[in-house]
Amino acid sequence: MRRNRQDGQSAPTAWAYSPAPEPRAIVKLQPRYGLFINGAFVEPHSGRYFTTLNPATEEVLAEVAYAEAEDVDRAVRAARHAYEHWSKLPGKERAKYLFRIARLLQERAREFAVLESLDNGKPIRETRDVDIPLTIAHFFYYAGWADKLEYAFQGRTPRPLGVAGQIIPWNFPLLMAAWKIAPALATGNTVVLKPAETTPLTALLLAEVLQQAELPPGVVNIITGDGQTGAWLVQHPDVDKIAFTGSTEVGKLIQKAVAGTRKRLTLELGGKAAHVIFEDAAIDQAVEGIVNGIYFNQGHVCCAGSRLLVQESIADLVIRKLKRRIQLLRIGDPLDKNTDVGAINSLPQLQKIERLVQVGMQEGAEIYQPDCPLPERGYWYRPTILTNVSMAHTVAREEIFGPVLSVLTFRTPDEAVQIANNIRYGLSAGVWTNKGSRYLEFAARVKAGVVWCNTYNKFDPTSPFGGYKESGFGREGGVHGLLPYVAF
Ligand code: ADP
Repeated sequence: MRRNRQDGQSAPTAWAYSPAPEPRAIVKLQPRYGLFINGAFVEPHSGRYFTTLNPATEEVLAEVAYAEAEDVDRAVRAARHAYEHWSKLPGKERAKYLFRIARLLQERAREFAVLESLDNGKPIRETRDVDIPLTIAHFFYYAGWADKLEYAFQGRTPRPLGVAGQIIPWNFPLLMAAWKIAPALATGNTVVLKPAETTPLTALLLAEVLQQAELPPGVVNIITGDGQTGAWLVQHPDVDKIAFTGSTEVGKLIQKAVAGTRKRLTLELGGKAAHVIFEDAAIDQAVEGIVNGIYFNQGHVCCAGSRLLVQESIADLVIRKLKRRIQLLRIGDPLDKNTDVGAINSLPQLQKIERLVQVGMQEGAEIYQPDCPLPERGYWYRPTILTNVSMAHTVAREEIFGPVLSVLTFRTPDEAVQIANNIRYGLSAGVWTNKGSRYLEFAARVKAGVVWCNTYNKFDPTSPFGGYKESGFGREGGVHGLLPYVAF
């Protein structure tokens, strides 16, 4: 079966695939989840619960406890109590728990992948091949460090900090939990983790895995709630460290809240990455990289390559190929193994994307979207390309956090660096060129924590990740990721 789609400029032909849904029966949802405090699921103090939805269908998946200040306090006290024992365990004993968690996650990988797709809306292909394997790799990696800390910081003796309050976003729910929990535990800290309000379910399933691993009670506590819950955690006087991943706006609030206290802080915030294509690049590969850079995870990626900078001499060619390519992306059921682009995570996020694209068009951008069918229910946004954009445009400066690419052009390598750096963010960048000297020079001059050369969105637990400027500070991953959790 073949289906023709045309945009007036080109006529690619997409294969129509039969549905290939991943069965969801492997996930056993409970109607209601309590707070995970001191090794057990408990009722919230207020008795309040909220719902979490499947954004692809708007179906309610479960009710989740709302943690208020009293619950935050209970969780912090449990973590403090557990710290007395956990921080004194030899590193090789802590490592055993981390290895055990990693192995249990491997055994239950499919269950986690399906649940993550249900609660987040991202395609099963990504949860199965990216989120869950990377989560496991993180636990394995930091398990390896737990008994070798003196080699990580040669000549110095690292000490844990105490209780870490960790607040994570909804775009990579389980993976962000692993980025936070694994290095904290490896270094001897205990944890109170707050998942995002729209995606709490895989963190709660992780709590079950922690029970299965017989992690001592209180070493990791998981409290669900909204921004207010997060704020209570940040303000709690007995928390020694805050690690936050989320929006720059909330990051600034948190930085103000901890200013003048003894709390240590790391922030991983927003981005507006420059993805630079030089005229000597391998164009077809670069087009694949651009697609991966912005449409992976519906563009809900802080390091997404959302600002495409193309050298003027090849701009028409690249844009033409890109438009052709995105007509072939499959949008729809996240549980279908052929789906490339899933659902937008929530209605407010969808409205934010729509509003920013509207502003872009009012400011003169030209919009291109494939005319693919969208499901009737749920939150959906077509992969979008905005051309005729300059750095004066809102869509070139603001983080959209959706499948929307803003295209700009440049003439010289100097101009590419200048446009790339002309932004308040500095999380990531990408560069495509045939010349090693050119990408090395670009990487040295661009103010971004991560620079990908002739590839994009590659993650590895051994490699540090984090930002410059308003993208935050502190690194996660690699030996650098241990540093925010130790004192000397
Ligand atoms: P996004 O814009 O990606 O939704 P947010 O920064 O709003 O990101 O949210 C990221 C995480 O921060 C979520 O877990 C959210 O509940 C939490 N959060 C939101 N507001 C606050 C706040 N004022 N203090 C602490 N945590 C917060």
